[in-house]
Amino acid sequence: MDYNKLAQLLFPNLTTTPEDVVKRYPPRQLPEGAKVTRIAPSPTGFMHLGNLFSAITGERLAHQSGGVYFLRIEDTDLKRAVEGGVETIINVFHRFGLNFDEGATIDGDKGDYGPYRQRQRAEIYQAYARKLVLEGRAYPCFCTEEDLTAMRETQQEQKLNFGYYGQWAKCSQLSLEEIEENLKAGKPYVIRFRSNGDPEKRLLHHDLVKGDIELPENDQDIVILKSDGIPTYHFAHVIDDHFMGTTHVVRGEEWLATLNIHLQLFQTLGWKAPKYVHTAQLMKMDGGSKRKLSKRKDPELALDYYHAEGYPVESVLEYLMTLLNSNFEEWRLANPTAPMGDFQFTTAKMSNSGSLFDIDKLKDVSKNTVSVMTADQVYSQVTAWAQLYDQQLYTLLTGDQAKAKAIFAIGRGGAKPRKDIAIWKEVREYVAFFYPELYTPATAALYPENITKEDCLAILEQYRSIYSIGDDNSQWFDKLRAMGETMGFAGKPKDYKKNPEQYKGHVGDVSMVIRLAVTGRTNSPDMHDVMEILGEETVQQRLNQAIEIIKAQ
Ligand code: GLU
Repeated sequence: MDYNKLAQLLFPNLTTTPEDVVKRYPPRQLPEGAKVTRIAPSPTGFMHLGNLFSAITGERLAHQSGGVYFLRIEDTDLKRAVEGGVETIINVFHRFGLNFDEGATIDGDKGDYGPYRQRQRAEIYQAYARKLVLEGRAYPCFCTEEDLTAMRETQQEQKLNFGYYGQWAKCSQLSLEEIEENLKAGKPYVIRFRSNGDPEKRLLHHDLVKGDIELPENDQDIVILKSDGIPTYHFAHVIDDHFMGTTHVVRGEEWLATLNIHLQLFQTLGWKAPKYVHTAQLMKMDGGSKRKLSKRKDPELALDYYHAEGYPVESVLEYLMTLLNSNFEEWRLANPTAPMGDFQFTTAKMSNSGSLFDIDKLKDVSKNTVSVMTADQVYSQVTAWAQLYDQQLYTLLTGDQAKAKAIFAIGRGGAKPRKDIAIWKEVREYVAFFYPELYTPATAALYPENITKEDCLAILEQYRSIYSIGDDNSQWFDKLRAMGETMGFAGKPKDYKKNPEQYKGHVGDVSMVIRLAVTGRTNSPDMHDVMEILGEETVQQRLNQAIEIIKAQ
């Protein structure tokens, strides 16, 4: 076969040559050990935990080693691409604080190894497809969908491996004349790689997460350029990661199945393959067994979910880090306030089987994260969230900033901060009793059963006259205790426990009645601080209202 002629027939107008490409992308000059990584999502509009999982890994490996981290947009599959998909990718990664040194940005591409959107690199792939044609390692295939379906059906009947290989690779046997005729007839075609692999032979691969693995050699004549001249993932991955200087390809383990193709392509093109980091699938427990997180069944797979529910970004990152590196939790215990970037991330500590994703555990992590934020941080994150998802809350919080910050300051800053809030969606409920618009008084039924109606009323009525705004925390409590004692309640719970028959209850019961009257709840942050924020008038008004409710019982 005259491959020169074939190449001329297939790429009559292509001017870019492999030499041009080599010149355009000189090897990166980086210090020894610096890693170059990328995240390469497709603009499908759906960003999921798996994307973030790989993205964090890549970011850590690059930036920890003084290397380069870039964003590439894999938009070769038009069927899956959606309008605005690229913006979604950029915005979501930005939200999670992943800083790219190069790649696609909202205002175009930045960096010397672009373009970073695959459709804009078409002639680069074509130049290498042409090179393979010239070497007899690629050929045009005119098979239609129907031809391929018929082939698959026969293979199924004969219980053979599926695919375009060996004798099944019909178009690999076409003569130049036949090809020319097809081209003249205007038949659409793809370019396939001519594989010389033998699946009986094994390929050894060392994956940085999976360890040493054996793969069968690839014998499929896979498509490298589709009929519109745009490459498939396999071909684009190999060309891009070579020329963009990627040292470590971090991607989901679903790509392990086709790794033999990628290694074969690197070898055929005479290039050194990058190192691979195949991240484990995210699993969840479902009815006692583990399964993969599913787009259809599990809303928590989508990254948008965390935004809408108001998970602080720090919490999600912190939790994912516990899944990514098995020693992270231990490090965190020893370094509770250190920035996450101080942790030495390593592929050696990555799980090589599925990582169990547990949303309750994430919430626990988030409670800790939120508990060590300052009131100002909480205020600014909550209001940013509420502006998008809870307009009423947003208006209330921003309407009196000082009040909102005072609420968030309760129980914060000490050695044992309160852990009431995990996600911003919970804030509405948490602050509700501070705002008349959100407050619901307690019904009579909520008051403790061990305290009679008369005692409840007596507590509230007397308390109205002793409450004085401006008392400090201990004055406030002393007054409450003294009042309880005069009414027959033990001043200390332990005195009550020793001699329960001598008392009506203890000071805790007295404060519970007041808590219910003032907040409508059995559980609230420090009552003294709560009352300071509510103010004298509201406290008195709520005590009166509670008295009315109990009387009407
Ligand atoms: N576009 C591929 C995906 O979204 C990227 C795989 C890779 O990182 O190489 O799964």
